[in-house]
Order: sequence, then C-alpha cells, then structure tokens
Amino acid sequence: MSTLEKTSPGTWVPRTSLGRMVLEGKITSLDEIFSQGYKIRESEIVDMLLSNLQQEVLNINLVQKQTDAGERSRFRAVVAVGNGDGLIGLGIGKASRVRNAIEKGIREAKLNLYPVRRGCGSWECGCGEPHTLPFKVQGKSGSVVVTLVPGAKGLGLVAGNTAKVILNLAGIKDCWSKSTGATRTVASTSFATFEALKNTVKMMTPKDWSM
Ligand SMILES: [Zn+2]
Repeated sequence: MSTLEKTSPGTWVPRTSLGRMVLEGKITSLDEIFSQGYKIRESEIVDMLLSNLQQEVLNINLVQKQTDAGERSRFRAVVAVGNGDGLIGLGIGKASRVRNAIEKGIREAKLNLYPVRRGCGSWECGCGEPHTLPFKVQGKSGSVVVTLVPGAKGLGLVAGNTAKVILNLAGIKDCWSKSTGATRTVASTSFATFEALKNTVKMMTPKDWSM
C-alpha cells in the first residue's frame, strides 16, 4: 500500500459550498459529512479531513475503440482507497497514459468514499469487537454477486485477491467472501464487493455510525 499524495490547503480553491465549509474549518470530520448526507464533489475535501488514506490499484486494462481517425486506445484503472478503519472508496479512471488513468481513478474513489459498519456478527465468535461484519451482506455489479459472511476472530480474509484488497482497506479483519457470475472481471467483482460493504450501513440512522 502507498500513502496518497496530498493537496496542500494553500493551493486549493473550493468550488462547492461543502468544500468552502471544510476549508474554513466549519466542518472538521467525514462523520459530519456522512451524517448530514452531503455528497462529496471535490477530492480535496477528503485530503483535508483524512491523513491516513491508502490506495490500491486493482486492475489496469487497455481499452481499444474504433473512431473516424482510426483506433484509439486508452487505459482503464480500477482503484480502491481506504483508511483500514471503516472507510472504503472505489473509482474508475480512463486516460491515454497509465499514470493519468490511476490518478483519475484515485480522485473518483475519493468522491465515492463510504463508511463501513463493522461488528462481530459471527455466531461462532461473539466477542463483541468490530473485527468483522455485523451481519451477512450482498452486493451486485454486472453479473457478479458477492456475499460477505461474518467470520470468527482469527479466521482472516477467506476471499479472492480483489475482495481481499478491498476488505483490508475497509478494515475488515475476518470474513468469508463468496462470489458468483463472471468473477474474473475484476471491475465487476470490485464493485460488487464495494456494494456489499455499503449495504452494512443502509439500515442505519446517522447516530449508529461509530467510526
Ligand atoms: Zn468476534
């Protein structure tokens, strides 16, 4: 994992009212943003409020497209960001250079940052600590369906590589992941895992967020 390069506050001119509130110190945490239902439209907001975000490039593809001028190829990068402690984001970036595709993917992933509810939902464990999921969740993307099942402490992540990276970034220590469909499609598997994690908070009121 690599730590993200940060935007320095001095160079950032916010374009949204949420951005201005963050820069002016009127909003000082992501909890406030999530609990009030704001949509993050500037990745600098995340840079300002989080110091420990990590990134992982899950997949890079060369996508070719037929245009009037001939064949045009672009890179498509699927990137996940997380703080290893209850926050996960996923994004796709496309560009003619790999580096730019990754940068766009990181930016997208920051705009797509969500809280993950953790707990001890394993019937074999019952320790009460937030090392796994509070209950079974499912997510879907394309033909891929990912089911995440709470695991007992010490189990680790019983999952494919893609899901493992995402669960790690989200701060899930023990979990079973099962998937069906075209699971070799990394983008679909990534987004299905991401959707499953988002479903841990769907049934919550803002008060329940414990981060
Ligand atoms: Zn437990």
